[in-house]
Amino acid sequence: MKIAVLKEGASGERRVAATPETAKKFIALGAEVAVEAGAGGAASFADADYQAAGATVADRAATLAGAGIVLAVQGPDAADLPRGAMLAAILNPFSDRARVDAYAAAGVEALAMEFMPRITRAQSMDVLSSQSNLSGYKAVLDAAAEYGRAFPMMMTAAGTVSAARVFVMGVGVAGLQAIATARRLGAQVSATDVRSATKEQIQSLGAKAIFVEDVKGIEGEGAGGYAGEMSAEYQAAQAELVSAHIAKQDIVITTALIPGRAAPRLVSDAQIASMRPGSVIVDLAVEQGGNVEGAVAGEVVERHGVRIVGHRNVPSRLAADASALYSRNLYNFLSTFWDKDAGRPLLDEEIGDAVRLTKDGAVVNARLAPET
Ligand code: NAD
Repeated sequence: MKIAVLKEGASGERRVAATPETAKKFIALGAEVAVEAGAGGAASFADADYQAAGATVADRAATLAGAGIVLAVQGPDAADLPRGAMLAAILNPFSDRARVDAYAAAGVEALAMEFMPRITRAQSMDVLSSQSNLSGYKAVLDAAAEYGRAFPMMMTAAGTVSAARVFVMGVGVAGLQAIATARRLGAQVSATDVRSATKEQIQSLGAKAIFVEDVKGIEGEGAGGYAGEMSAEYQAAQAELVSAHIAKQDIVITTALIPGRAAPRLVSDAQIASMRPGSVIVDLAVEQGGNVEGAVAGEVVERHGVRIVGHRNVPSRLAADASALYSRNLYNFLSTFWDKDAGRPLLDEEIGDAVRLTKDGAVVNARLAPET
């Protein structure tokens, strides 16, 4: 089985779907690995390192010729892919349905890595977790870089610098890493989420939990451990609590997402105006519609003296580590199902049905069925 590793075409995408390390591991499974020239360059992996690992390096057409599996970070053009090939990538099927239909028409078996079920045995294959963890870390560094003050308290001969107050909204994988990173930098950290299970996690990281209490519909946990949409009563109580808190914060980091829907709006223009000038907000949900009013994807904007950071594709800003973890997720996924006799992966029902978008010319994923 030939595995093709593509050079990413999307603007600003610096990651690569296989590193020399995972190329070597795929070869050890019995696969042949072809890497498009320059594929790892933006993530600091040289063509020569892939060759040293046993892969061939070629142009795009030669890389794809005869490939049975194609690995990518973002979805490549369907027209480029060999008929019958399996494609593993992050495919954003809800926002790019036309591409999914094109994969079906091209006879490609498209696997959306972000649809990996959140079950224990798939943890090592979970690209959302591996990439969100790095995003949460980088969000804090991006905030620190925009902030004209220091994060830790410093007692100096010239006087005392007070610790920055950091508020993290949305405590999933990214939020937890943001809390831990801000704490390591010496900030005073607080955090909120709609899922009450996160309260203990926040406290165990040494941060203060800011939670709406005694409101109907308070348990925000929806399907699969993700958040659901909250009642109007809850949203009003949350807005009031958060308004009072935000006015005293120097840094706000928002990470709140609801699968398959636009990100919930958590910070209003009035709340931004209540913060002191020089404060910084990082909206990690900006590409899914944004948690923060006025945040612009791909830009740092200033409103009421507050900088609102809306970087796109934050994991790609840590391209080497993001690629290393993403590549291992792909390797863990494909190697778990690798059938030595067949010389290719044979996916089981639970994971295969969850991630498979298209097969044999049709769109087959239940989450993309018209009624859902
Ligand atoms: P996510 O990226 O979907 O959302 C980020 C956070 O925003 C979530 O914690 C969510 O509850 C929160 N949120 C949504 N609406 C909000 C609102 N209105 N106000 C405040 N917060 C809001 O979440 P995620 O990082 O993917 O993690 C979701 C859950 O899945 C977590 O419990 C995580 O630990 C769990 N998880 C399990 C596995 C596994 O078992 N394999 C793997 C990864 C994550």
